[in-house]
Amino acid sequence: MIVDLHNHTVLCNHAQGTIDQYIEKAIKEGTKIFGFSEHAPMEFDPKYRLAFSQMQAYENSILHAQKKYKDKIEILLGYEVDYIEGYVDQRVLNAKVDYLIGSVHFIDKWGFDNPEFIGKYEDENIDEIWQKYFDAIEKMAQSGFFQIVGHFDLIKVFKFMPNTNILNIAQKALEAIKKADMTLEINMAGYRKPIAEAYPSRELLEAAFALDIPITFSSDAHEPHQVSLYNNEIVSLAKAVGYTKCATFKNKQRKMIEI
Ligand SMILES: [Zn+2]
Ligand SMILES: [Zn+2]
Repeated sequence: MIVDLHNHTVLCNHAQGTIDQYIEKAIKEGTKIFGFSEHAPMEFDPKYRLAFSQMQAYENSILHAQKKYKDKIEILLGYEVDYIEGYVDQRVLNAKVDYLIGSVHFIDKWGFDNPEFIGKYEDENIDEIWQKYFDAIEKMAQSGFFQIVGHFDLIKVFKFMPNTNILNIAQKALEAIKKADMTLEINMAGYRKPIAEAYPSRELLEAAFALDIPITFSSDAHEPHQVSLYNNEIVSLAKAVGYTKCATFKNKQRKMIEI
């Protein structure tokens, strides 16, 4: 795929491979614009992310790669930021980056996408869990802090599905995304998880298309071999729904390019 904006590095403590290995895989796959978006530092759950003291080193190493590979591929610098009210940090929001991805990985501080805490799905009504998740996405969009919505329906990761209509549950979140002029990523990491499909689902992507919400693409790679692993699937999904363009960013300004 031409653009791939969501990828990690070893600095988050749960990924493998060197920056060069990720980039070389992207070049091999024909990607033209490849972005790193490391899990940004936060005073919560610090083990699974960059430390504040590592921000400069992370940014320098990506900018170094940008120069090194400039004749072969465009490298972008970003962060994936956890949206937890009260924890979004100014040092991250003010970082000089090409884009920020806003993601929800926690509901009331429960790491719902972590297999360690999967038991909690049995403790509460599944429809309420889904609604709380999309309420958090709505607030994330309303904050105005971010350019891209990370893995829009991540709550489906372990295939605990709601009993009510997903479009109804997600409607207000989609409207907030539209109002904030955010971009939705089509993220292939879902194929590596029990749900075995992209984030978002075709149904939600169609709803986004109806609202004219722009998309971009991402591997969400945590290992070099995951770069572009399901690129045919997600590009075909975008085209089947009707998308002909995808977004890229420079200094937080969006530019649309042909898929
Ligand atoms: Zn991660
Ligand atoms: Zn994520």
